[in-house]
Amino acid sequence: MRDARHDILFQPLQIGPVTTKNRFYQVPHCSGMGWRRPRAVAAMRGMKAEGGWGVVNTEFCSIHPTSDNDSYPYAALWDNDDIRANRLMTDAVHEHGALAGVELWIGGGMVTNFGTRLAPLGLRNRPQTDASVLHPGQARKIDRQDIRDIRKWHRDAALRAVEAGFDIVYVYATHGYLLSEFMDPVINTRSDEYGGCLENRVRLVRELIEETKEAVGHKCAVATRFSVGLGDAESYDAFAMLADLPDLWDLVVPDYGIEMGASRFVKEASFTDDIAKAKQLTSKPVVAVGRFTSPDTMARVLRQGGQDLIGAARPSIADPFLPNKINEGRAEDIRECIGCNICYAHDSLGVPLRCTQNPTMGEEWRQGWHPERVTPTKKPEKVLVVGAGPAGLEAARVLGERGHSVLLAEASRNLGGRLNYESRLPGMSEWARVRDWRVGQIDKLDTVEVYPESPLKAQDVFDLDVTHVVAATGARWASDTLGRHSDTGLEAGTAGMVISADVVLAGNTIEADHVVIYDDDHYYLGSVLALQLRKDGHRVTLVTPAGRPCDWGQWTTEVYQSNTTLIEAGVEVLTNVMLVAANWGEAVLECGLTGDRRPLACDAVIPLTRRIPVLGLYEGLRNMGEDLAQAGVKSLVRIGDAEAPNIIAAAVQSGYRAAIDLGEEVDIAQKYGRREHTV
Ligand code: ADP
Ligand code: SF4
Repeated sequence: MRDARHDILFQPLQIGPVTTKNRFYQVPHCSGMGWRRPRAVAAMRGMKAEGGWGVVNTEFCSIHPTSDNDSYPYAALWDNDDIRANRLMTDAVHEHGALAGVELWIGGGMVTNFGTRLAPLGLRNRPQTDASVLHPGQARKIDRQDIRDIRKWHRDAALRAVEAGFDIVYVYATHGYLLSEFMDPVINTRSDEYGGCLENRVRLVRELIEETKEAVGHKCAVATRFSVGLGDAESYDAFAMLADLPDLWDLVVPDYGIEMGASRFVKEASFTDDIAKAKQLTSKPVVAVGRFTSPDTMARVLRQGGQDLIGAARPSIADPFLPNKINEGRAEDIRECIGCNICYAHDSLGVPLRCTQNPTMGEEWRQGWHPERVTPTKKPEKVLVVGAGPAGLEAARVLGERGHSVLLAEASRNLGGRLNYESRLPGMSEWARVRDWRVGQIDKLDTVEVYPESPLKAQDVFDLDVTHVVAATGARWASDTLGRHSDTGLEAGTAGMVISADVVLAGNTIEADHVVIYDDDHYYLGSVLALQLRKDGHRVTLVTPAGRPCDWGQWTTEVYQSNTTLIEAGVEVLTNVMLVAANWGEAVLECGLTGDRRPLACDAVIPLTRRIPVLGLYEGLRNMGEDLAQAGVKSLVRIGDAEAPNIIAAAVQSGYRAAIDLGEEVDIAQKYGRREHTV
């Protein structure tokens, strides 16, 4: 039963001509699917509606071929085909009584128009401004006729949105796209009625809101996405000028690294005060995000009156059923977002989003996977899962939920595998939610028996009388440097100079003053290990063959903050450099550009180059050949890092997949190769 303190979250709210049944609002968020994958996107958005979200929006939706963000997937409403494609989404959302919204989008100087090959329409003569693309192509500086055209295109797209069945239509005035270019006093140097004073700079936003209302306001609510706060006083002045024009404000802060911040740097509800300040200036409802996962925090924020709706992108990805769980008084079942931004990273890489916490995300249409339901097995069998890292925990949970009888054996005292080590590192505490949610769910299942402190050998399996074995035994960091930038590893290495990262991850202290981390992994671990070692009092140099540490973090948004923290912590950084030898008292470094070599005095080297699967148990069993079958073991699989070391999201996915496919003859090409063909 619902906790009465959360009733406020379930009050209906009128937004212009439409009414949302509750206060759970999935704000527009990228999906990595866009117009290329309309069925996948419809199934994914429909799942949110099924899970109780009152409003479900699209991703950014282009109004015209001059706003083309290939290779980032985006939605489009250019023509009748797009109307039909978007209809799939609105139907899926309406089926569950939710409202469907569309974020009409004008790219401006941020896009490159790779797909349409038209000149982008920006406010100035300058190269496109997307820092991840850095293409030399420039935008065409728009003139008055372009502005008239854009207004018409926006209006026409709004009319198509109505035909597609949307209930809420956006004017999207932030995130660096054309409308924010207009409002920015530095970028907007126009001398006509669209430049100069603030009133002129907000003119186009005002016109679009008014014209969208005029075109579709009888049927749809008109929302405006807009940035306020973080010390930008003028943002409130601009907001005040438009305050009562749209039917709904979708507010964010003018820094994507905070709005979308990784949990290493930004925690839940971290900019509610900035939003509340704007809320005082308008009579219209306000929605804002804040990576809300706690119903108590959500209810408090609404009670305090700083906003009217709980906006969510990531929390709705990690748990599409978050609203229903709160409604049913099952808050402890919420699969809380960990703020890793793996979802966003995959969209940025041009592929459907995936989620560390929710392995079904993005697979609703392709695989028919459901975040809350698994098909019960027709034939319950006894399954041994060895290893309780993210892969093993997920496999055991899903196998147990399917009705199999599961033994989960873990060598160490604590369940969690790599999560136990990594979540202790600076800023990483929320990552433990991957472990905690799964342990909590397994505790509720009487089908799963857990055996900690049980390091198993192949021979032990014979005594357990099991039908299937799932080896989720993980991987260990290598203490060589063979990896992305080296085919051979160190040319020379003195024993004792090279320390496996696992030694530090396990919490051991190391006897070394100056430690060199050789980061050929390029994600968070090199940087957070460096921070930990600084905390422990070491001098630390982070050496990387890349142009900057945590380079892959450009996709998760964390690269900038990550590097700021390294500088602030006094970590020395050497870029475009490879480690080629580790002699006693020195590392030998080679410039990746010139090949020049030089020594660096140090006391220890920690390579982060590759991980080696732990396969003793798996190979021991496999080598038994026929004996295994004779002992009644019908299947043996390795999953997660034991199969191929990867990000935690991949381990969770692998555990889920193994549990769904257990004992099945799976045609991989047919099942996992499923795509949307337009012909
Ligand atoms: P993954 O990310 O694939 O889940 P992890 O390295 O996080 O991998 O977890 C693997 C887990 O397997 C660790 O907790 C480790 O202690 C456990 N493990 C490894 N080998 C055995 C074994 N032979 N018996 C029991 N547990 C094992
Ligand atoms: Fe949250 Fe990470 Fe899932 Fe994104 S991938 S929704 S940040 S848990």
